[in-house]
Amino acid sequence: GASNLLESFKSTLKAKNMDCEYDVILTGCHGFCEQGPIVIIEKDNTLYCQVTIDDIDELVSQHLAANQLVERLLYINPIDNRRISSHKDINFYKKQHRILLDLCGKIDPENISEYINHGGYAALQACFEQKPTDIIEEIKVSKLRGRGGGGFPAGLKWEYTRNADGDPKYIICNADEGDPGAFMDRSIIEGNPHSVLEGMLIAGYAIGSNIGYIYVRAEYPLAVKRLRIAIDQAEATGYLGENILGSNFSFQIKIKEGAGAFVCGESSALMHSIEGHRGMPRSRPPNSTKKGLWSKPTCLNNVETFANIPLIILMGGNEFAKIGTENSTGTKVLALTGKINNTGLAEVPMGISLRDVIFDIGGGIKDGKKLKAVQIGGPSGGCIPEEMLDLPIDFDSLYKAGAMMGSGGLVVLDESTCMVDLAKFFLEFTHNESCGKCTPCREGTYRMLQILEKITDGLGTQDDIIHLERLSNNIMNSSLCGLGKSAPNPIVSTLRYFRYEYDAHIEDKT
Ligand code: SF4
Repeated sequence: GASNLLESFKSTLKAKNMDCEYDVILTGCHGFCEQGPIVIIEKDNTLYCQVTIDDIDELVSQHLAANQLVERLLYINPIDNRRISSHKDINFYKKQHRILLDLCGKIDPENISEYINHGGYAALQACFEQKPTDIIEEIKVSKLRGRGGGGFPAGLKWEYTRNADGDPKYIICNADEGDPGAFMDRSIIEGNPHSVLEGMLIAGYAIGSNIGYIYVRAEYPLAVKRLRIAIDQAEATGYLGENILGSNFSFQIKIKEGAGAFVCGESSALMHSIEGHRGMPRSRPPNSTKKGLWSKPTCLNNVETFANIPLIILMGGNEFAKIGTENSTGTKVLALTGKINNTGLAEVPMGISLRDVIFDIGGGIKDGKKLKAVQIGGPSGGCIPEEMLDLPIDFDSLYKAGAMMGSGGLVVLDESTCMVDLAKFFLEFTHNESCGKCTPCREGTYRMLQILEKITDGLGTQDDIIHLERLSNNIMNSSLCGLGKSAPNPIVSTLRYFRYEYDAHIEDKT
């Protein structure tokens, strides 16, 4: 309902002859989805929650005209029932470290001037004063790891692509965010599309590429629209195209809309799709930094990785590396969903504990229930049990615990969740999305799904558990791409931490 509010605000201000005093600005998501639609009055930084059209008249006449807070629309602190007016005092925001999302919910994403007025494209300008190899060095110093799931060092990937033989070279931004429960990339694009374009431009300059593609899901129409507007405006103002800002660097960006296949988030399948083929992975090596799009050297990073680049250039790699942990620097945007009070988008420093995210930022579990587990990393991620709540959220700790960072989707599960059902749900998803190219994934996920159905139907035996374990092992070791290699993760992690629930189904105790 936010777009209706926008129009209603404008017409109400006009009707009261106040439209010269106030700008009503459309913004991207502010992250606090649970309390939306949100209206922020910038003159005193007041945040109003769950605003409806019926509230607009009161907001204008009471807050804007008479300088009085509209108490009933302020956020209510669930602990002491206190009403809070500034978002900086709300727990949801307090433990966040918002650098990537800083401008999301603040600037008009459809107006390039607002991005520029907040320091946008200054990083690109600064890059033109440096040698491309120095920029790659800066990214290496920052220790930025790719935010798309694998966590590969971005600077190294850039260096490999730059040093690879072949021309032209390509930059690809992976915006094919397909995990259930994930909406980080979508929100960054919808809230601050130029940060992604600027990151791609800097990558192009550093690597020696003049053309970039953004592969974005067609199911994200607003993101696609805002990208198109951003590209048009950047071209019209000299930030994209020939001889950018008077330099001898030229760059163009094209958009390719994906048709919603989860496997197209895999880099080689994504490149096949851009080339006009069916999106299916290929075996590697060679890696795409050597032979990627149209068999040319290609650097593929995801939305969040590119959005980090201008920040690193402006603050310096060393400063960036001070945020987070030794091996997982910077911040991570997490999508909080499931049985959590504060559904939304939170940007946290790497290394923050799951406990802080779920209870401080997320406000705890819905309806006063007990936390059972957290599924992190999407359908191929793993379940972390309640006993491990102090686990730091970083690439290595999650991997050791049998989960993965993935793109940062965090699904919170309460005591009423059946973990076998949950594993079945995610396996059903990966089985449906398997492209079918290789037998272990195509047949293996199907067999595992059959076994899980047998168990949840109360017909399972302990032999089925042995089969599940053996199949998981084989599929992980012999599948061609990451989808198959990680598809058994939800089963492996639920067997590791919640074996008793499988046993209960088998012994028909549930
Ligand atoms: Fe396709 Fe699955 Fe094989 Fe990947 S692992 S190539 S998704 S069948």
